[in-house]
Amino acid sequence: MVYKYDFLIIGAGVAGMSYALKVARAHKGKICMICKTSLDEANTSFAQGGVASVTNLAVDNFEKHIEDTMIAGDYISDRAAVEQVVRQAPGQIEELVNWGVNFDRKEDGQFDLHREGGHSEFRILHHADDTGAEIQRGLMEAVRNCPDIEVKENHFAVEIITQHHLGVRVTRRSPNIRCYGAYVLNPQEKVDTYLAKVTVLCTGGCGAVYLTTSNPVIATGDGIAMAYRAKATVADMEFVQFHPTVLHNPKETHPAYLITEAMRGYGGILKLPNGETFMEKYDERLSLAPRDIVARAIDKEMKIHGLDHVCLDVTHKPADETRHHFPNIYQKCLSIGIDITTDYIPVRPAAHYMCGGIKVDLNGQSSIEGLYALGECSCTGLHGGNRLASNSLIEAVVYADTAAKDSLKHVDLYDWNTQVPEWNDEGTMTNEEKVLITQSVKEVNQIMANYVGIVRSDLRLHRAWDRLDMLYEETERLFKRVHATRDICELRNIINVAYLITRWALERKECRGLHFTTDYPLHAYDK
Ligand SMILES: Cc1cc2nc3c(=O)[nH]c(=O)nc-3n(C[C@H](O)[C@H](O)[C@H](O)COP(=O)(O)OP(=O)(O)OC[C@H]3O[C@@H](n4cnc5c(N)ncnc54)[C@H](O)[C@@H]3O)c2cc1C
Repeated sequence: MVYKYDFLIIGAGVAGMSYALKVARAHKGKICMICKTSLDEANTSFAQGGVASVTNLAVDNFEKHIEDTMIAGDYISDRAAVEQVVRQAPGQIEELVNWGVNFDRKEDGQFDLHREGGHSEFRILHHADDTGAEIQRGLMEAVRNCPDIEVKENHFAVEIITQHHLGVRVTRRSPNIRCYGAYVLNPQEKVDTYLAKVTVLCTGGCGAVYLTTSNPVIATGDGIAMAYRAKATVADMEFVQFHPTVLHNPKETHPAYLITEAMRGYGGILKLPNGETFMEKYDERLSLAPRDIVARAIDKEMKIHGLDHVCLDVTHKPADETRHHFPNIYQKCLSIGIDITTDYIPVRPAAHYMCGGIKVDLNGQSSIEGLYALGECSCTGLHGGNRLASNSLIEAVVYADTAAKDSLKHVDLYDWNTQVPEWNDEGTMTNEEKVLITQSVKEVNQIMANYVGIVRSDLRLHRAWDRLDMLYEETERLFKRVHATRDICELRNIINVAYLITRWALERKECRGLHFTTDYPLHAYDK
């Protein structure tokens, strides 16, 4: 089947839904938003902390938020992007509230603001500890009430369409690459052609590339991989943020259950399973050291002792207090036989957030004409070498706004390209052996966890490169032989993204932001 839309939005988290709602207001054409599973399954639903925005001008101001973001990003951030997000954040918070998203308020009606690591002021708007779920709920309701947005669940974008599909040779140096829409796998496992004047990638992160991640299974980096294959520019892929403590439970790795940093704030102590403490070797702030230092320390101890986890100990705290402060964590651990008032909590770091992605300008426009990228799959330059806590949800809404304005200006200049051929799967067959895919996914996860994790070295990165190369060749051969299915497409994408992370990591010859390598221990400024 061939479909025609003015706006094709791929992804329905905070980025995709905000963009859809903003564009729909203009009544300027047909809008289709697809997502690969159900509308509620997105990274957005998992966000706990909140949304950063300067709202209390009595003590806070834009300059402070800008400086905090630049420091967190290790001065790799693009100042123009930082200024745009910080200055437009309060207006976009208002937009979220008008769409029906609730943030906690104090008795006087002011927002109840939290403060998180790296922020010099209290500026985190939140909804209890499930802000992401509230944002996803509010936006889903607004989208469902908007007759101008056609939502298609269980539709999987396979490939971005460009001149390449018309038989033109497209390279990374080709000028004027143009996006004509996307090939999309429907629930009956047939690939349809979606012609679009404007295509917007809002496909989220890529935590599923790693063995353990706080991200849901959908986070396979599809948008980044599709854009890269279509020869779009990507950037900053070496900057993967790891959360230091998720619950170590081999049965639950995508997503792994997050053990909040507040537990260490409460007095939780990191220990080896034999009870020895280790943080004194790494930082005088011990278990309260910043996120990346703790993650690196745990990673090192796990490697030294050959462990698959370390432990967080709160057994010295009063049991009633622990149950009162952390009812969800208490119940979750109990469900797998761990009573945190008497037992250590097994924890390990996990891939959490991708700072890099598809390079975009201040309007969310990628290097390919007619193709925008928003949210975690994009690289706006805001995060630079490291993301400041709670800066990502707001980035998605701010860029949804600038992209909506820009694409509405340009949509009339474009037309559908009806020369685009339909998906050709002639001569392909059903893949009878799922193991060819599941085993390769496991291999990619292992390679990335062991060789391209928190602490890197050239030796390990080269090993990863060689192994990924073999998996890439095997998978491309298989992809040409079998019908397109979600699992083989996701495998292609995680291999692609794993390769990008590895290559970017090899190219950065310094320790900077989230990138830490034993071969180049100095920061560029210290050389
Ligand atoms: C545990 C956790 C806690 C977090 N806490 C915070 C926080 O407190 N504050 C903060 O600012 N950020 C936080 N983040 C990060 C933040 O949640 C994400 O960066 C943000 O939600 C990403 O939104 P998005 O719209 O870009 O993508 P997502 O919300 O991940 O949505 C992606 C969408 O793309 C669709 N999709 C993907 N691939 C395809 C495909 N091939 N075809 C069709 N559809 C596709 C999916 O189905 C989904 O609808 C947290 C993340 C996690 C995992």
